[in-house]
Amino acid sequence: MSLSDIRARISAAEKEVGRAAGSVSLIAVSKEQPEARVLPVLEAGHRIFGENRVQEAAGKWPDWVARFGPLDLHLLGPLQTNKTRQAMELFQTIHSLDRPKLARRFAQLAQELGQCPELFVQVNTGAEPQKAGVLPQDADAFIADARALDLPVIGVMCIPPLEDDPAPHFRQLAEIGARNGLRALSMGMSGDFEIAIAHGATHVRVGSAIFGARK
Ligand SMILES: *Cc1c(COP(=O)(O)O)cnc(C)c1O
Repeated sequence: MSLSDIRARISAAEKEVGRAAGSVSLIAVSKEQPEARVLPVLEAGHRIFGENRVQEAAGKWPDWVARFGPLDLHLLGPLQTNKTRQAMELFQTIHSLDRPKLARRFAQLAQELGQCPELFVQVNTGAEPQKAGVLPQDADAFIADARALDLPVIGVMCIPPLEDDPAPHFRQLAEIGARNGLRALSMGMSGDFEIAIAHGATHVRVGSAIFGARK
C-alpha cells in the first residue's frame, strides 16, 4: 500500500456511497514511523498527519514544519492535562477531549493563548474500561459542557474495540454527532476506513496501510 493507493481507495469509497469527492480528510498517522518513511509522504505533498504522543511529535515535527511549511497536525492519543499547553502549541486539531478536567484546562489556556485547536470529543463506543473516551450515554452532556466553555468542538471520534464489527460503532458515533449538530466524524483506520466512510466519516486516520507496519 502507499499514499496514492489509499487516496484512490478513499475516492472510490466516497463515490460508492454518493458522497462528494474530497469530503473525507486523510490523516496519515506517522506515530512510531522512521523518518525515511515519512519524508516521501511529505515530499509527495501530503500535509495532514496524526500522532499519538505529544512528546514524540514534539521531537520531530518542528523540524519538518520548518522544512515543508505549515502542516495540519492532529493529536489522536490520550492527552495528559499537564501536556495540554504543549499540545495546543503543536497541533491544529486534537481528537482526544475526553474529560471535564481537560476541557477546563483547554478553556483556561485558550483564554491565555488567544487560540485553541479544533477539538473532537472522544467517545468510548465499546465502553471498554481500558480505553479513553466518554461513555455514549454521557456524550451529549459532556459536549454541552464543553460548548458552554466556548471550546471549538467540531466533531466526535471513536476507536471501536479490536474484536468487534466496527459498523455498529461507526453508526452510533454518527448518531451522537448528528443529534449534537457536530459535522465532523473521526473514525476509520487502516483496516476499516472504507466502512467508516460509508457511515459518514469526515476524517479517517490511516497509519500502517500508508507507511507499513510499526515496530
Ligand atoms: C495508531 C492509530 C491509528 C492508525 O492505525 P493503523 O491501524 O495503523 O491505521 C488511528 N487512530 C488512532 C487513535 C491510533 O492510535
